[in-house]
Amino acid sequence: MKQWKQLADHLDYFLELGITGVNRDFSWRSRGVVKNNSIECSVENSSVINREGSLPKHSKAMGKSAIGLEKADLVNVLDVSNSEKSLKLIREELGDCTRCKLHSSRKTLVFGVGNPNARLMFVGEAPGRDEDLQGIPFVGRAGKLLTKIIESIDLKRDDVYIANVIKCRPPDNRNPDPEEIETCEPFLFSQIDAIKPLVIVALGTFASRTLLRSEEVISKLRGQVYDYRGSKLIPTFHPAFLLRSPTRKRDVWEDMKKARSILREG
Ligand code: URA
Repeated sequence: MKQWKQLADHLDYFLELGITGVNRDFSWRSRGVVKNNSIECSVENSSVINREGSLPKHSKAMGKSAIGLEKADLVNVLDVSNSEKSLKLIREELGDCTRCKLHSSRKTLVFGVGNPNARLMFVGEAPGRDEDLQGIPFVGRAGKLLTKIIESIDLKRDDVYIANVIKCRPPDNRNPDPEEIETCEPFLFSQIDAIKPLVIVALGTFASRTLLRSEEVISKLRGQVYDYRGSKLIPTFHPAFLLRSPTRKRDVWEDMKKARSILREG
């Protein structure tokens, strides 16, 4: 009986958030792998509940909700009418996250910022020192350059959505390790599913590899536009790399022009 009461409370909670049903479109439940510049869906890579109702391997690290389902996974399969509410729900599910070791050294969890209905979304790697202090992605030197990149195509930061693969700063800005990525990526996937941007710009190797399920380096991945679950995905160089190698700004400009023309057409 207690379980039914918990289930009823849980459903009331989702109803209050404007969630009215379950999305049975299977394509929204899986993550893809790259093939011929487009993403093929594969259940193995799914960030959500599969057809049999079992959970994918990487979600084992996430906490269970009262009814035994992962709330973050549930977000993916529900027909969420409002991106802002969905993002709030995803943030709530993250909570004061202790799912990986980065929680012990971070100051602030950096979820994401911007327009929940953005047509353009940027995905970076992980917060740095400034982001860790302020709780906002891309506010340091690389962030200032990203703002200029956004403005170069006549948009403002407020028009777009910015998030990272990893929500907590790795100590001394070291590379995130595979376990950290595996633990954190479902939240990024849920953010993308909530926003459903027309264009996603993946900044640097980690973001591009994570989204494209590729082992390639960014210099091999960039220069192409990938079909990614209804969005167009454009991998480009990370702004922090541009600070070290300013001559590659030209390549990023080429990539941003592609993003702009897709946004104009779409
Ligand atoms: N680099 C990133 O990848 N993300 C940030 O938020 C800041 C720097």
